[in-house]
Amino acid sequence: MKKMLIFSSLLVTSVYGFGQTPQAPKTGASKYPELEKMTPGMTEIWEPEVKIIQPGATSSDAPSDAIILFNGNDVNAEWTDVQGNPTKWIVKDGALISVRGAGYIKSKRKFENFQLHIEWKTPSEVTGESQGRGNSGVFLQELYEIQVLDSYNNRTYRNGQAASMYKQYAPLVNVCRKPGEWQTYDVIYTAPTFGADTTIYVTPPRVTVLQNGVLVQNNVVLRGPTEYIGIPEYFIKKHGPGSIELQDHGNPVGFRNIWIREL
Ligand code: MG
Repeated sequence: MKKMLIFSSLLVTSVYGFGQTPQAPKTGASKYPELEKMTPGMTEIWEPEVKIIQPGATSSDAPSDAIILFNGNDVNAEWTDVQGNPTKWIVKDGALISVRGAGYIKSKRKFENFQLHIEWKTPSEVTGESQGRGNSGVFLQELYEIQVLDSYNNRTYRNGQAASMYKQYAPLVNVCRKPGEWQTYDVIYTAPTFGADTTIYVTPPRVTVLQNGVLVQNNVVLRGPTEYIGIPEYFIKKHGPGSIELQDHGNPVGFRNIWIREL
């Protein structure tokens, strides 16, 4: 018992120091400092100010920070064929029209993440059916196709109609206008990311598309580059920024008012 008393006395001395007597906490005393009372200003972020840009006259018109890829005049300013030569696609009445056999065209500039606006029109004179009617396409980074097709009273496989992510995702709805009428795609694209020395996506590409102002692809995650035959390959060659490509599928599809914002 004597040893115990000596031990506890030493313990008290070491904790409180010599000459101090342990005291019980005051009743009601706070264990932690009081937090400052929240005010509205504490959650307001002012700097840096959000960049100011000028909107277009309508939501189809390019805002001030957009890159104009086609404004109805010179196609060669921003586009070439896939070999990098002047394209044989023609410009008529302000529209860029695909020419059978001329091949795809691609933007000279390459892009990573972006917002793209593009308007398209299938021929008013309806010929062919299914995939053979007004077929073209908008390829993101040269690899991932948003289908362009006359899907007005023209059944085809649902994941291959207009506004599909070709053979990967059908559009949420068919909001196509009649052949010969201008239609819009507004696209938000998030490029894939890759590891340092891998050929598999760390994060796959993602796409949102509005057709004629209506959501048709809602942040879909792509499995891999567009394939005509077979399942898209998840293990792909690592790629960086890429062009926008427009498809020549043998039908004279028109494009106009193409602009893009890098994100
Ligand atoms: Mg196509």
